[in-house]
Amino acid sequence: MQPVTEALIRKSFINASRSQVAAMNFPPDFAETDWENVDQIGWQDHKMPQRSYLVVPVDNKPVAILLRAPELVSASRKALCALCEDLVSEDDVYLFVAPKAGASGKNGNSVGTLIHSTFSCSRNVRAEVKPTVIHPDPELVVAERIRGLQERTLQFVQKVRS
Ligand SMILES: [Zn+2]
Repeated sequence: MQPVTEALIRKSFINASRSQVAAMNFPPDFAETDWENVDQIGWQDHKMPQRSYLVVPVDNKPVAILLRAPELVSASRKALCALCEDLVSEDDVYLFVAPKAGASGKNGNSVGTLIHSTFSCSRNVRAEVKPTVIHPDPELVVAERIRGLQERTLQFVQKVRS
């Protein structure tokens, strides 16, 4: 994705109040983000661990989404991440809840989805693939996985917006 600044991300939230945006914290390693190799970025707020954020490029502009992490982390390790659908990663998968954008969110409506707690999805879909008889070209498989991640993430953004 195109590199985005902290200031731009703060302006890009569609489902957070001004005070929530003002209070958010960026990860300490934000400046080292490998923009070329990510389709989206997400992180848990290290000062408010019940909040996480997901930033997704939509038509080359970032859309930022506030996510509430579950208070109780249950044994959801085997749950399938709805964004990357990766079966290999050992990272936990949480049920995140995003308040809906606009009036609907103010009325308490939200969208839940399963996402890797570490937002490792971009890395997961780029993981090395062994060629098989059915898929002899690993590069094609990875390209298809990246496309799938991008599509499913956009669908999630649409659900938060709708
Ligand atoms: Zn994932």
